[in-house]
Amino acid sequence: MKRLPKYTPAEVRNDPYGFTYKEMSEVIGENEAKALYEELYKQLPRKKNLSMLVKNICKSSDTEKYVYELKDNKYIETVFIKRRDGGTVCVSTQVGCPVGCIFCESGRNGFVRNLTSSEIVQQIILLRRKVNRIVFMGMGEPLFNYDNLIKAIHILRDRYGLNFPTDGITISTVVFCPK
Ligand code: SF4
Repeated sequence: MKRLPKYTPAEVRNDPYGFTYKEMSEVIGENEAKALYEELYKQLPRKKNLSMLVKNICKSSDTEKYVYELKDNKYIETVFIKRRDGGTVCVSTQVGCPVGCIFCESGRNGFVRNLTSSEIVQQIILLRRKVNRIVFMGMGEPLFNYDNLIKAIHILRDRYGLNFPTDGITISTVVFCPK
């Protein structure tokens, strides 16, 4: 018996950065998925495909801090650190953070919500920069948003899209494994 796709065409078209190429093709067919993936990852970001916007950019000599506004009017930060041939990007995985490390502003007001995999991917797309390294160490504890984090990594690594190398991705965590 043929397996039904988990998503509807409307869900894919409304928030396309949240899907791997394979998932997208299963729902809207290979031809449309090919054209949409080309638009998402090989062209400039288009408003109709985005669920967040750049609200502010603070620039210094070697860093750029991006403030993004999400659809529900929440804010997150992403930091781009310049390197000679591109840059490292520190990506957020949650709005706020439940951990509350004493030295960190991100956890000061507690946890608000997890970011979707699409919101994680768009932080990199909206930079419109050459990124060589992705580090999940922005706002939030990445492993507390495990499913969306792993899905976002699959999308970033997708060979039809950014084709980002696995060894360029680092997850920074404060979570420890109990003995
Ligand atoms: S886990 Fe990270 S984001 Fe959360 S409070 Fe600690 S340092 Fe800040």
